[in-house]
Amino acid sequence: MADISTGNVRVEEFDVVIVGAGGAGLAAAVQTGQAKLKTAVISEVYPTRSHTVSAQGGINAALANMDEDYWIWHMYDTVKGADYLGDQDAIEYFTKNAPKTILELEHWGMPFSRTEEGKIYQRAFGGQMRNFGEDIAHRACAVADRSGHSLLHTLFERTLRPDIAPYVSYYSEYYAMELFRDEETGAAVGVLAWDMVNGGFHLFIGYAVIFATGGNTRNFRTNTNAHVNAGIGWTMCLKAGLPVKDPEFVQFHPTGIYGVGNLITEGVRGEGGYLLNSKGERFMKKYAPHVLDLASRDVVSRSMAMEVMEGRGVGPKKDHCLLKLDHLGRDFIMDKLPGIWELAYKFVGVDCTKEPIPVQPTAHYHMGGIPTNVNAEVVTYDGEKEIPVPGLYAAGECACPSVHGSNRLGCNSLLDLVVTGKLAGANAAKWIIEDKPVFPNPPIEFVADKYGKETIERVKAYFDGGPGTIKMDDIWEDMRDTMQENMSVFRIEKMMAKEVEILKGYEEKFKEVGLTDKSHTFNTELAEIFDLESLIYVSRVETEAALARKESRGAHSRDDYPERDDANWMKHTFATMGKDGNVEIQYVPVRTKPLTAPTFQPKKRVY
Ligand SMILES: Cc1cc2nc3c(=O)[nH]c(=O)nc-3n(C[C@H](O)[C@H](O)[C@H](O)COP(=O)(O)OP(=O)(O)OC[C@H]3O[C@@H](n4cnc5c(N)ncnc54)[C@H](O)[C@@H]3O)c2cc1C
Repeated sequence: MADISTGNVRVEEFDVVIVGAGGAGLAAAVQTGQAKLKTAVISEVYPTRSHTVSAQGGINAALANMDEDYWIWHMYDTVKGADYLGDQDAIEYFTKNAPKTILELEHWGMPFSRTEEGKIYQRAFGGQMRNFGEDIAHRACAVADRSGHSLLHTLFERTLRPDIAPYVSYYSEYYAMELFRDEETGAAVGVLAWDMVNGGFHLFIGYAVIFATGGNTRNFRTNTNAHVNAGIGWTMCLKAGLPVKDPEFVQFHPTGIYGVGNLITEGVRGEGGYLLNSKGERFMKKYAPHVLDLASRDVVSRSMAMEVMEGRGVGPKKDHCLLKLDHLGRDFIMDKLPGIWELAYKFVGVDCTKEPIPVQPTAHYHMGGIPTNVNAEVVTYDGEKEIPVPGLYAAGECACPSVHGSNRLGCNSLLDLVVTGKLAGANAAKWIIEDKPVFPNPPIEFVADKYGKETIERVKAYFDGGPGTIKMDDIWEDMRDTMQENMSVFRIEKMMAKEVEILKGYEEKFKEVGLTDKSHTFNTELAEIFDLESLIYVSRVETEAALARKESRGAHSRDDYPERDDANWMKHTFATMGKDGNVEIQYVPVRTKPLTAPTFQPKKRVY
């Protein structure tokens, strides 16, 4: 065990340090390993336990296996789904590269479900249309309802190939805490992590750092995220003086299991399932007469909330809706949606081949994130242009290349992981190999004198100090409730302003939190203290950015500004945490010019 009482820190040098081993981190590792760069992949959990494993529905690409389809239709849907806040150059790159990406995954062994002719099976998903909104498209390439599981294993196995494996070292069960930047150039130079199994610190130094830390909706009472999704990538950036982009846009997925939050994939509605209110009415007919239950997620979640608000909710509290799929038949459900059957049965005792599943909107995904350009480089904004941070990249859900704008379409995220993960890995490799950056670090034996001292002292104080006067759980529990109440599907100015003050209160209380478990072996309490701190940061930027955005767009819906306001708000939020602990906001124009395609001009979004 490394002895932290004497400040003993292990230091190791790499070419590339990747934080996160979900789909995005692994897609990056394939590239850096292939480029023969010494790569460290740090993950709080074993790679194949990352949240990507739980993705159900599929991954989008206009393969046209089931019906006519083109990337430009996929691009249009993504621009529209994003409520015109997505950057159209990034969206073009993303949708154009989708078919190639899927075929590469197939060649790497991803076991897609098949059509009768042996082609990759594709299902319908919300907001995915043919011919610029005319008809429903089948675009989500699926492996039954275990698409993320297959994707993650395919990518992981790829890194184990004999030509890649020697270059990729996994540091599983390491908890990353701090990003280091060179004082002079601002370049990323490494990361400090806690070895969860043995205790003690590990300083990972590299020419490039890639963040792939995933989502962060655990600050809401009802959410779909894994335990490890605490937004640490955002928080490490905020603490290092870097911005988070568009944090106000939190996606609520319409069909979380009532009372638990676990996800029931939109693929259920894609396969013909539909929502009902307490009167047994298929209420989506009213809100999205053309595509009904396959409208985009923000629209369906708001419709469900309206039904509940108007007294047509189900159950003793009249607070949820029902998802009916028994009419699809037992054989079909067990073949195409076996994981859904299991989830509903295990969590609420419902056999969905016979009865509907009780559902409610659940915090699911973050459209915003660490701002990146089309090379997956992390950027800041100088008032006129975006400036890349040397050596720092981000990919996957923690990043914001502005593909999803203010509302992500289902099955665009798995695609995002693979496309942006690959870009981050390939561009980091290119930078190291072609530009030959110089290490700004002191010789290895002195690195620990320069970096991480404050965090190490802080952890040492936790081990040396008492249990604290405030219990961590008290803040967690309260925060989940207040965020759920004040920052949910509908947003009200007074409540958001109240939440900002409540969050400041949590920040003060957090200072009184101590550590009760003093063990160095698997001290999950220590990790949770950092998770909690991180989610307070995340909540602050989410809430303040939402309060500042005086319009309704995508997932951000305000009662006092119910309309989208393109004249004033076609701009991205860049939020930083000032030294005095205040959130500072800059605005950056949306890039409406695609690479080669014509611009899709904003128009009213109807489904
Ligand atoms: C239940 C569910 C179903 C979904 N279904 C679909 C779908 O069908 N289609 C689709 O397109 N999208 C889907 N999504 C969204 C999509 O799966 C996620 O956005 C995506 O998997 C995120 O991948 P990632 O690689 O960015 O992060 P993750 O897979 O979440 O990985 C994050 C990594 O960061 C590491 N990490 C986090 N904190 C730390 C730390 N402090 N120290 C070290 N490591 C850390 C973790 O260990 C993990 O390895 C779904 C999401 C959920 C929650």
